Amino acid sequence: MKKIYYLVALVLVACQPKHSDTERAASKSNDSKAGATAPIEESKQDEPKVYHASRTVLTDLINTKLEVSFDWTKSWLIGKETLQAKPHYYASDKLVLDAKGMEIKSVSMAGKNCEFDYKDDVLTIKLNKTYTRDETFTVVIDYIAKPDDRKAGGSSAITSDKGLYFINPRGEEPNKMPQIWTQGETESNSVWFPTIDSPNSKSKQEMYITVQDKYATLSNGKLISSTKNADGTRTDYWKQDLPHAPYLFMMGVGEFKVVKDSYKRPDGTTMEVNYYVEPQWEKDAKAIFGETPAMIGFFSQLLGVEYPWDKYSQIVVRDYVSGAMENTGAVIFGDYAYKTQRELLDDNDNSTIAHELFHHWFGDLVTAESWSNLTLNESFANYSQFLWDEHRHGLDEAEYQALQEAAGYFASAEQGGYHNLVWFDYKSREDMFDGHSYNKGGRILHMLRKYIGDEAFFLALKNYLKANQFKAAEFHQLRLAFEEVSGEDLNWFFNQWYLGKGHPIMDVSYATDANSVSITVKQKQKKDFGLFKLPVDVTVYDDRGATTSRHWFNDESTTVSIPTQGTVKNVIFDSEAVLLGKMEEKKDPSWYAFQWNNSKHYIHRKNALQKLPSSNPEASRVALEALKDPFWDIRSSAIDKIGKMSSENKTAAVNRVKQMATSDSVSAVRVAALTALSGMITGPELEQLCTERLEKDQSYSVMSAALLQLSKVNYKAALEACKRLESEPSSKMQSGVAMIYAKYGEADQMTYYENVFKSNSVQGFDKIGIMNSMTFFIARHEPRLQRRALPIYENEYKNGGMYVQMFMPQYIGYLKDNLQNSIEKYKAEEEKAKKDGNPNAAEIARGKRVEAEALISDYDKLIASFPKEEAGH
Ligand SMILES: [Zn+2]
Repeated sequence: MKKIYYLVALVLVACQPKHSDTERAASKSNDSKAGATAPIEESKQDEPKVYHASRTVLTDLINTKLEVSFDWTKSWLIGKETLQAKPHYYASDKLVLDAKGMEIKSVSMAGKNCEFDYKDDVLTIKLNKTYTRDETFTVVIDYIAKPDDRKAGGSSAITSDKGLYFINPRGEEPNKMPQIWTQGETESNSVWFPTIDSPNSKSKQEMYITVQDKYATLSNGKLISSTKNADGTRTDYWKQDLPHAPYLFMMGVGEFKVVKDSYKRPDGTTMEVNYYVEPQWEKDAKAIFGETPAMIGFFSQLLGVEYPWDKYSQIVVRDYVSGAMENTGAVIFGDYAYKTQRELLDDNDNSTIAHELFHHWFGDLVTAESWSNLTLNESFANYSQFLWDEHRHGLDEAEYQALQEAAGYFASAEQGGYHNLVWFDYKSREDMFDGHSYNKGGRILHMLRKYIGDEAFFLALKNYLKANQFKAAEFHQLRLAFEEVSGEDLNWFFNQWYLGKGHPIMDVSYATDANSVSITVKQKQKKDFGLFKLPVDVTVYDDRGATTSRHWFNDESTTVSIPTQGTVKNVIFDSEAVLLGKMEEKKDPSWYAFQWNNSKHYIHRKNALQKLPSSNPEASRVALEALKDPFWDIRSSAIDKIGKMSSENKTAAVNRVKQMATSDSVSAVRVAALTALSGMITGPELEQLCTERLEKDQSYSVMSAALLQLSKVNYKAALEACKRLESEPSSKMQSGVAMIYAKYGEADQMTYYENVFKSNSVQGFDKIGIMNSMTFFIARHEPRLQRRALPIYENEYKNGGMYVQMFMPQYIGYLKDNLQNSIEKYKAEEEKAKKDGNPNAAEIARGKRVEAEALISDYDKLIASFPKEEAGH
């Protein structure tokens, strides 16, 4: 699963008032697998810890055959399940299944009804005899799944564990294609079929899906047949002969277009790679997903284990409850993945595509046996993004992303608390989907790779996959695979990183004498993190050139002495930039100039650029060079250095930034340059530049940045530009327009917001952004205009999907507070006007106050319809 935190966080940038509330709302979204930031928990030291053991395996599932059809008007699934299973070890006359909120109509074996007991979401079936582990039995269950009728956590309004989702099933919302999709992780697929809903359970799968002929269907495995029925419906038969965990079962139904692509296996056979998208996105599907076949080939080769499944399909759905999900061979993405080819210039989802694909080895083929071990799935999926970037875009890009991943872990842990990576005493299993399991896990794999070497690392992975394929595993199995290949007892590594928490916080200092350099590392992290054993590569630059050696820093303070020859020019601690931790480095400032010229790793070069003091004679040269660096983030970072340059260098630098704003190949750099220029050049010059970018740039993010800068020097010109851009077919561009209107828009611009929501042309995260902007826009205007937004909030709360619902209390709360303040202002105006003997003005002020009060009362009615408490997990 891929978290959505970053996507949500982006939207929130614009939302300043009620900041803490909004952040809390963002955290809540993390509960639905969002990830990087868990809610701030109050310290509850006294609460007894619960050890979450893996579920005891009583029964082995063998084959799950489902025959399903749908009642779209009721949001029901009518199902018949034929389940083949056997006792795992001990003989039994019972079968216990998870079945959440269903109507169980009958259970039978060989045509005869069985006794069964169904309560508290558990279906216990009395088998027709006692079976031993050598005997297979088959039960048939007729049932109806009613996901929308099910009350979860005391509220039925906002749930992310419904398992089965009917989106716009009665076609009431314009421009939203009706569809059905499923989301199983963690244990929600048992809402739509009875199963042993645990990650250490696996089953083969057959799926007969009956739909109206206009619908396409998608499920795991191969499409074996497609049969038209006498009543005009069609039954698609999907079959997967290889077992996988129940949470990976998937269905998707809707009027999707299927864009066909393919992957050629090394044995010459061709495998289907399909993209399911809504009709208007058919032309963009290959631009969005087109790297997939190359990724399948790359990962298969790297792991030495060929992609194990029948096919690879990716589908984009509406109102999705997470980022993306690795259902075996049938991966789901949220609608943020819909991007036009022009929007893809700014931003693509290849890292998410890689993430879900890599799960097909780590997660789908070998599955973490319990949610406590989730990092066995997510750390690899996270690390695949590094592997793909390194292969496709080079080490600089991979290391840039790695820095972001590490920052994500630090932020998540600081906000949500530190815990062991393999976390047995979590409160809710949904809390496992955080910056530990993903980001930290991924960084740890990279450290391990660089510790034991690339070849040993990938061989150990191959052995781990082969030994545990189609089974569940816990982290010890991973350790044993690495131990077998490397020959080393790796408990020290796994104990500190997998069974421990936190990371090292280090003070690193250097002292040189005539023939050696001493490196002292003090570990200063909190006591409960313990001391870390740290094998670190150190590169010393002296008259011989560069010499790299590995040293251990295991104590509270460790000093290592390395022989040198002649002048020491620089020392790089952690040469391969792999260590997950924080470091305060005390280094001769002049070494950074040498480091800039002589390092191959992006991180070391960026450090040199940032840490070389501006007083150093080399500083300007380094910054000017950095502005022309081949790697985009170095160019972008160098812009910050211009402020402290001497005036003759500054002119050259500013000219360079102007060039970057217009012609840098990376749109993020053009944005950074354009933004920085507002403090560097005159207003008219900036206006001219922004106007030109608005006309000529292909990138919507550059155009949005140009709008914003233009608004600062000439907001009327920015508003005019916005009017021209209102019809631009890009939800990204619409977000930019909406933001300018939020700040400067006049009453007329309310029509713009009304049209956006009426046409439902912007959906998903972008819709939240526009709703943010509309909220700030109306808050600046009078109550009469504000009232025009009320039906929009009401309708969006009812039909706008779960993200809009999640943020709605913040919007309405903010508007109410704002109106409350206005009422005081109108009262004062009325008083003053009366005193001044101006009855007209007094009447106007009074009218506004009455309107404000009426609106507050309507907001209260809307608030009353919000659920009292969000559904828990
Ligand atoms: Zn994942």
